[in-house]
Amino acid sequence: MIRFFGHRYLAPMYDDAPEVHPPTGALCAWCGEVFLATDDGIVVDAVGLETVALSDGTDGLPYHRVCFLRTIIGSVAHVEERCSCFVPGADEGDPPGMTKRQAAELALRRSYERNP
Ligand SMILES: [Zn+2]
Ligand SMILES: [Zn+2]
Repeated sequence: MIRFFGHRYLAPMYDDAPEVHPPTGALCAWCGEVFLATDDGIVVDAVGLETVALSDGTDGLPYHRVCFLRTIIGSVAHVEERCSCFVPGADEGDPPGMTKRQAAELALRRSYERNP
């Protein structure tokens, strides 16, 4: 089951999702950065992984919202269709010089620009 913290966005993913407090001090499962009380995020169930205890008594794997979406939409290169899915042998990684979270934010922006 998906839970969320921070802002509730108008997206199907949020429809039945219970709200929990931001898991401050825990690390994002994608970017590895520590959660702040002001972060927006998503928590998913995880079996066999180290999970984080949540304010509703459940536990799960927390992501920043952008980091969770990055795991679905792919890298900037993938969104722009210049990764190895589209160009044989091409690089599909995040842009160099960016943190994983910055690259996730950029991938999301590029995705919205391409699919407004
Ligand atoms: Zn993150
Ligand atoms: Zn790709």
